[in-house]
Amino acid sequence: MDTKIIYDINDTTLTEAAQTIRSGGLVAFPTETVYGLGGNALDPTAANKIYKAKGRPSNNPLIIHLARPEDAESYCHTNETYYKLAERFMPGPLTVILPKRDIVPYEVTGGLDTVAVRVPSDRVAHRFIELAGVPVAAPSANLSTKPSPTMAGHVIRDLSGSIDMIIAGDDCDIGVESTIITLSPVPKLLRPGLVTVEELREICPDIEISDAVLNQHQGRPESPGMMYKHYSPRANVVLLRGADEARQAFLADKSECGMLCYDEDTELLKNRYALAVGSKDSPKEQARNLFAKLREFDDIEDIKTIYAPMTASDGIGLAVLNRLIRAAGFEILDLD
Ligand code: AMP
Ligand code: MG
Repeated sequence: MDTKIIYDINDTTLTEAAQTIRSGGLVAFPTETVYGLGGNALDPTAANKIYKAKGRPSNNPLIIHLARPEDAESYCHTNETYYKLAERFMPGPLTVILPKRDIVPYEVTGGLDTVAVRVPSDRVAHRFIELAGVPVAAPSANLSTKPSPTMAGHVIRDLSGSIDMIIAGDDCDIGVESTIITLSPVPKLLRPGLVTVEELREICPDIEISDAVLNQHQGRPESPGMMYKHYSPRANVVLLRGADEARQAFLADKSECGMLCYDEDTELLKNRYALAVGSKDSPKEQARNLFAKLREFDDIEDIKTIYAPMTASDGIGLAVLNRLIRAAGFEILDLD
């Protein structure tokens, strides 16, 4: 299939992309979190095309993207908590799960009776969804198991030839996927993101944190996506738990390995396979760079292992740690 890549983004080209969605095609588009692979969320065939293009298991449900928080009324049974969350965090990087209405096909929800909704704040994403005039089902626009795409180049590399169109916009500002909270039946964090648990607690004081956020899950977790291999570069990722000094000492003689470092690891960064993910003090910066850096290691032919630090687990740090632990397939080496 010929994939049309749109570099010149304006109302004319976005209208063409919107038309492609309405006629059952797939369009990758930028959002503030990561690039999404969009299809008409009311069309079961489009949902199946999404799973196929990504190589994603079809029981791993898709998030539906809306232009306005109140549009959710047509697709799920909302409640007061939804509107409180919407008022504070939408448009923005928060996905809310609610009981679905019949109009949403089971192909989109992976067979579940709930549906995930999100209202992106990114200007291009918003305009594209508004012009589409239908809810846009969109998982991240990467091949399944690969790190999510935060740059147009990542999408072109993974999906060109297998989807209709790619809107090649700017690099994503946030860099990790949306925070996911389910309200069905009680508030529970399923995936951490830029909207933190601490912030969500101000609206949902009793919010629980799914066990699957930081632990390997036995059986089917509340968020099916949590059970699959995820965010993985070609080389094997191993997390190092311990003080910075212990990590630096451990890596000092590992010159043939990839190393994901903090800006502050100045000695390590002299190593040819060392890449900085951002300042140790800025989980926001780490989130923005994480997936792009993991993908950069794929271009280094001869590395078999990538060592990365265990990052902080509070605030936005939890989002970074959640992705890193999965990239590492839960492989953690204790240095203390
Ligand atoms: P991605 O689109 O790649 O960001 O993945 C979407 C994530 O949302 C996956 O981890 C899904 O498991 C999760 N998700 C979507 N819909 C639901 C739902 N109805 N219930 C639970 N998790 C969901
Ligand atoms: Mg994904």
